[in-house]
Amino acid sequence: MLSVQPKGKQKGCAGCNRKIKDRYLLKALDKYWHEDCLKCACCDCRLGEVGSTLYTKANLILCRRDYLRLFGTTGNCAACSKLIPAFEMVMRARDNVYHLDCFACQLCNQRFCVGDKFFLKNNMILCQMDYEEGQLNGTFESQVQ
Ligand SMILES: [Zn+2]
Ligand SMILES: [Zn+2]
Ligand SMILES: [Zn+2]
Ligand SMILES: [Zn+2]
Repeated sequence: MLSVQPKGKQKGCAGCNRKIKDRYLLKALDKYWHEDCLKCACCDCRLGEVGSTLYTKANLILCRRDYLRLFGTTGNCAACSKLIPAFEMVMRARDNVYHLDCFACQLCNQRFCVGDKFFLKNNMILCQMDYEEGQLNGTFESQVQ
């Protein structure tokens, strides 16, 4: 995406509209930029260093971090199987990720707070009570209330 052009005819910077008199021109989104003007649209970090990766989407120029945050995905929710966009908060349990809303005991629907104990059994999230009950009865199917 980012390429350095040999100096030729002076070009206007797409960021500040002034002529670019720098040693070289940066080209991104088919426009030219001052080194200092090529910034991430989200966090304002400089993207003008040669060799840095920049991402463009819908005419936005973004750093890798913001691009992934806005347009990447975390994975599929292990409870509802829907894709979780990267900017959403997720809960993680072992290799699984969950929407915050989906992270509840799959038997009694109790939600977990930070610090609460939860258990993973047969890839189901269980609260302590249901887990212990299931252990006692040797089954995880019949405790739904
Ligand atoms: Zn500029
Ligand atoms: Zn950024
Ligand atoms: Zn979900
Ligand atoms: Zn439960």
